[in-house]
Amino acid sequence: MSPSWNDVRADFPILHQQVNGKPLVYLDNGATAQKPKAVIDALVRYYERDNSNVHRGLHALSMRATDAYEGARSRLARFIHAADPAEVIFTRGTTESINLVARSLGAKLKAGDVILATEMEHHSNLVPWQQAAKASGATLRFVPVVGANAEGGLDLAALDQLLTPQVKVFAFTHISNTLGTINPVAELCRRARAVGALSVVDAAQSVGHTPLDVQALGCDYLAFSGHKMCGPTGIGVLYGRRALLDQLAPDETGGGMVASVDFDGARWKPAPERFEAGTPNVADAIGLGVACDYLDALGRDAIKRHDHALARRAYAELATLPGIRLLGPTGERGGLVSFAFEHVHAHDVVTFADEDGVALRGGHHCNQPLMRKLGLTSTTRASFYLYNTPEEIDVLIASLRRTLKFFQA
Ligand SMILES: *Cc1c(COP(=O)(O)O)cnc(C)c1O
Repeated sequence: MSPSWNDVRADFPILHQQVNGKPLVYLDNGATAQKPKAVIDALVRYYERDNSNVHRGLHALSMRATDAYEGARSRLARFIHAADPAEVIFTRGTTESINLVARSLGAKLKAGDVILATEMEHHSNLVPWQQAAKASGATLRFVPVVGANAEGGLDLAALDQLLTPQVKVFAFTHISNTLGTINPVAELCRRARAVGALSVVDAAQSVGHTPLDVQALGCDYLAFSGHKMCGPTGIGVLYGRRALLDQLAPDETGGGMVASVDFDGARWKPAPERFEAGTPNVADAIGLGVACDYLDALGRDAIKRHDHALARRAYAELATLPGIRLLGPTGERGGLVSFAFEHVHAHDVVTFADEDGVALRGGHHCNQPLMRKLGLTSTTRASFYLYNTPEEIDVLIASLRRTLKFFQA
């Protein structure tokens, strides 16, 4: 049973507007997703009825806010099938989650240790590891991507040489935000564990788009952002296995994360509180819990089929355009397509598309080293989500044809 995708569109107020006199066609979901009314209403309801600080209050509003905040944590744990809600740490998003784990794990690294990443990482899963390597003296290495357009994905044969016992951390993305590649997360986590390395998975592009089970994947840490899965901005999650979190030093200290404090020192609470110093983002955590309800009511299997079908269709139609170079896998891919024209710059493509009401993204997509390796400075990306339709792909293709004609390309 598939949901009615047109009813889905009705749930998103922002979609029903014109841009430059044309109906909005929002194809920039890889950067951020739109919010259903249920999420927007939950935020308003919280501020109108329940707003209060959490954990330290004994009055009615504080208890209500605490229950709702901790309820959201449990909801997120169920969403990713964590064994325990204490394994869910609320952060500002993927970037903050990875910084937290990179700084905290980095403090335990030393010269001779290796941090392994891949050539397809977003800057947010790259620069924090560069910093951790610099601070600790550890070496940062990369699993290469294969193929002129990275169509071959990660070089899993090279992984045998790269995954040595010196590797302490293996950080990689689940779905590439530039290529659409879906990495074999369970296999990568298993191979990391076999050499005693901790796995850190960047799930920013996957968690709202596909069923995801941290226990089945066997990952040690996993990071994602609320705003890419129909939740609010400013909220995200770091998942970590309980046994690991209780040994991990906090990155930030202050109120709310301490068990007891003296003038000369303090003791930390267990996870998750030890990683949530200060007043947390209560409202947006609650909103994110509602986003989980929304996505699960539709079913992430159905969302995945829908996104993937749109990406397949877009890929096939884009391939008919003259002078186009399509990046990433030719077969199964996540719900996005990245491409470059021989004679038209991505910024011109995006500007022309905007005149037609179509929202695309052009640039390096926070993947500069990969772009350089592929001999590109930028690409144009169309990224899909549950409210997009096949008709919107027709609008995209017509817009691109108009652009190519203008540039006589
Ligand atoms: C968007 C994205 C990030 C960063 O997410 P923020 O919400 O900006 O912190 C990291 N990795 C990937 C793969 C992304 O797509």
